[in-house]
Amino acid sequence: MGEKLQQATLGVRAGQVRSQFNEHAEALYLTSSFVFDNAAQAAARFAGGEDGMVYTRYTNPTVSMFQDRLAALEGAQSCVATASGMAAILATALVHLKTGDHVVCSNAVFGATIQLFTNILGRFGIETTFVSPTRVDEWRAAVRPATRLLFLETPSNPLTEVSDIAALAEVAKQAGALLAVDNVFCTPALQRPLELGADIVVHSATKYLDGQGRVLGGAVVGSKSIVGQPLTAFLRTAGPTLSPFNAWVLLKGLETLELRMQAQSAAALELARWLERHPSVARVHYPGLESHPQHELAKRQQRAAGSVLSFEVKGGREAAWRVIDGTRLVSITANLGDVKTTLIHPASTTHGRISPEARAAAGITEGLVRLAVGLEAVVDLKGDLERGLS
Ligand SMILES: *Cc1c(COP(=O)(O)O)cnc(C)c1O
Repeated sequence: MGEKLQQATLGVRAGQVRSQFNEHAEALYLTSSFVFDNAAQAAARFAGGEDGMVYTRYTNPTVSMFQDRLAALEGAQSCVATASGMAAILATALVHLKTGDHVVCSNAVFGATIQLFTNILGRFGIETTFVSPTRVDEWRAAVRPATRLLFLETPSNPLTEVSDIAALAEVAKQAGALLAVDNVFCTPALQRPLELGADIVVHSATKYLDGQGRVLGGAVVGSKSIVGQPLTAFLRTAGPTLSPFNAWVLLKGLETLELRMQAQSAAALELARWLERHPSVARVHYPGLESHPQHELAKRQQRAAGSVLSFEVKGGREAAWRVIDGTRLVSITANLGDVKTTLIHPASTTHGRISPEARAAAGITEGLVRLAVGLEAVVDLKGDLERGLS
């Protein structure tokens, strides 16, 4: 499909391949294996001399349609789907790193990502240095001769700090390392890291790509040589493949991605502005607000500010919990990327296991509440939050 089509069109149309039945919607191929016409074709498919389906751990038509659609949205040559977001990050690391290598990673990435780099990859002699997502000088200073990968997530969770992708791509290039960006919070509807110089984009498709909280999935996106060939070979052997059923659900999610991301960003901006003026709120973190420290960078780098915001309620933990317990509509859950609005108290949940001092240093205060705005009417969301705020 041509490069000139808009994101909204690609989300609906890219990647679809029809079977001999000419179905209108994408077909769901629930099959673990594929049959061959004869022994010679089987041999050619196994040897890789002939394109075609063999076994769903390697390739599946529904999974391929999802991969091709997401690649088109990210403006990439290749996309390799995985069983979950964490499988995407693990596969990226195992393909591009070996014992003795060094990673520089933002200190404000998903909790399991920090555990993966420290506890799991650390056991195999891969060392990771964690740095501020916004201080480019810290990244430059952390680079060593053995540095092979720079990894970040922007905007960050829950404080929505915005990293300068183009500046960090330059640091990676000078270091001879790859820059991988976890694009979960923006999705390609709002941010295309490869255009800004990143080498790899990873996704937890579980969040906004699905958009309705139904299935787990992940993806790695980039060029044929950095992503397509090595990741396909890795998945074929190592196995954390996306299920065709989940790929089919995610294909449907991509069709409404553009609309959802725009609508949820607009709702988040309206709520952020309302919260910023609320007498019970000390501070709001949202890249769409002029008060955000990286507001200008976010405007350059993103098409909208996204659906996640956090705010500090005056009165610490007690006041924050009162807001959460006062809701009747919004879901109390750490998940995000759903059309149902969710909220959580990071200091006692997602960031509960780090020391109070480290938490305070990271800006995760006792009064902080994180909101991932969905598609309910904003007036109803305000009413739901107001009960605990006033
Ligand atoms: C959820 C999430 C992940 C992990 O994805 P799973 O699909 O749950 O494995 C990685 N990064 C970010 C930013 C996430 O929000």
